[in-house]
Amino acid sequence: MTSEFSIIEDYFKPISAGESSINVGIGDDGAVLSIPSNKQLVVVTDTSIEAVHFPKNTAPFDIAWKSLAVNLSDLAAMGATPAFFSLALSLPAELNRTDWLSEFSLGLKTLSKKYSISLVGGDTTKSDVLSITITANGWVDSGKAILRSNAKQGDLIFVSGNIGEGGLGLQKIAEAENFKSVVQHLNTPEPRVELGLNLVGLANSAIDISDGLLVDLKHILTGSGVSAKLDYDTIPFSLDMQNYIQETEDYFFPLTCGDDYELCFSVPKHKLVELDKIKKTSKVHLTCIGEICDGEVGSVSLTSNNKSLQQKINSFQLSGFKHFV
Ligand code: ADP
Ligand code: MG
Repeated sequence: MTSEFSIIEDYFKPISAGESSINVGIGDDGAVLSIPSNKQLVVVTDTSIEAVHFPKNTAPFDIAWKSLAVNLSDLAAMGATPAFFSLALSLPAELNRTDWLSEFSLGLKTLSKKYSISLVGGDTTKSDVLSITITANGWVDSGKAILRSNAKQGDLIFVSGNIGEGGLGLQKIAEAENFKSVVQHLNTPEPRVELGLNLVGLANSAIDISDGLLVDLKHILTGSGVSAKLDYDTIPFSLDMQNYIQETEDYFFPLTCGDDYELCFSVPKHKLVELDKIKKTSKVHLTCIGEICDGEVGSVSLTSNNKSLQQKINSFQLSGFKHFV
């Protein structure tokens, strides 16, 4: 058991990078940071609580990775370049151990280095439940942030990666050996930072999928005053997911299960040539799954094989992960 001050000194101070825009980092009452001219600051916060956002007994490396990744995913959805983050750690006494803290600190260091985001401060407290709140900051060129509220009729709707991977990972966590890829997606999701940056000036709207494709797409639709039609048969699923759907016949599971951390975005048709260029260099595949329409605001019409799945979707589209229901 070490003191709050030694924890900061031994495990968190070493993570902070000495960048020129950090005038004062960890150690004073607050960080002092310089904002580049012509840039706007994008600020996101996400809390991860044990047994709510990650299962008990998740490896400390993975807990740290995911807590930062979900924040980077929000920055990606805004088209922001990651810059700084702060960490509020509420730590149960039994985890105040060298092995746990070193692994946690390594997870944080590994992902923060990968995306050049620097730890500039935080708070460390004792608590009954492990809880991690990260506030991350990023830059966008002034006026260029990608919003949920700007989808336009006729835009095509795209998603990155495969849908439902994290949710399937949670289902299969006890069989992790046989479901490595989906469990890895659950525990150490890869935030789509590069994609988000590439979408600036190209996508009319974007959101990161954290609570389920349908629920998160709905945020774009209501925010933009539009509706959408989706072709179920074009939604990308991994082989594991295809097998799961075949076995369970739960067609809507991947659309509502959450923990994807993929981007869902809309692109006007006249920018599709530009998007094609990004597709060629992108590390993650991008798939068109539908189109933005006018019509009842917030509604999704879903078809498969040209047949409507409307009745089914009506009972599903308001589900997805919610904390207070
Ligand atoms: P204060 O009591 O003034 O709030 P603290 O003693 O909590 O200051 O923190 C001392 C310094 O260590 C501050 O710069 C703070 O931002 C930083 N810090 C505290 N906890 C963490 C953490 N978990 N990760 C990174 N920096 C931290
Ligand atoms: Mg404090």
